Amino acid sequence: MFESSVAQPQVKKRLFIGLLLTSLLTIVGLTLLLWYLFFQPATIIQKAVLIIFIGAIILTVLVIAFGIGGIVFTIWRAKTINFLQPMMRISISLLFPVVVGLGRLFKIDIDKIRGSFIEVNNQLVKTKRLKVRPSQLLILAPHCLQKSSCPHKITNDINNCKRCGSCTVDELLKIRDRYKVNIGFATGGTLARKYVKEYKPKAIVAVACERDLASGIRDSTPIPVLGVLNERPFGPCFNTKVSIPKLEEAVKYFIEEDYRGS
Ligand code: SF4
Repeated sequence: MFESSVAQPQVKKRLFIGLLLTSLLTIVGLTLLLWYLFFQPATIIQKAVLIIFIGAIILTVLVIAFGIGGIVFTIWRAKTINFLQPMMRISISLLFPVVVGLGRLFKIDIDKIRGSFIEVNNQLVKTKRLKVRPSQLLILAPHCLQKSSCPHKITNDINNCKRCGSCTVDELLKIRDRYKVNIGFATGGTLARKYVKEYKPKAIVAVACERDLASGIRDSTPIPVLGVLNERPFGPCFNTKVSIPKLEEAVKYFIEEDYRGS
């Protein structure tokens, strides 16, 4: 359901997965090349160091390979493989900077890569079929959803909003009230982390741009995050918007049926 609102999801997911595999092959290739060029062991100590080095590399590559395999299999079969979850997380956190580096090298739009990662993440989260109580769900939204001219600043206290309906904040508060979930408007990563610490959510629905969502999703691991991209009709970080139907779909995805508002 959540996926249906996204254009060409298969193409988007393939980009990130393809770059993950390319990153893995690049690391293996570079390691072999460096070893061949610079390390010709002569003494026993050098040989021992070499064996430990190669062992560590093989172990890391195996973990990453199983992690990538787990991601592909999970998306392909729409089924979670629990024992591969840690390896999937390690692969993403280790290879994400390499993926971005390769993207720069191949002149691929970095936001496209982040968008693809968000698609992959959302698909992996959905295969877990996790259901939580409303009090265990946190909606994290950026403060730039608030109309810039509004004098009632909501970052300190969301209830400062007078619900005038001039911006999306009112709609988000309606969702909060309908589903009795927690909500936090953050100015950045520090405030977002504070909300996570305060509410201790078991699941998060996050609204943000590609850059903030991609880093927020990785920062929140292992808490599952469904990411919803914001819309920027006036450019970044200014009077942004979010599709309320998409947001509500994500909230409903996590909330147990008995607790859903009508
Ligand atoms: S809904 Fe109205 S009062 Fe609330 S944040 Fe937006 S502009 Fe301000």
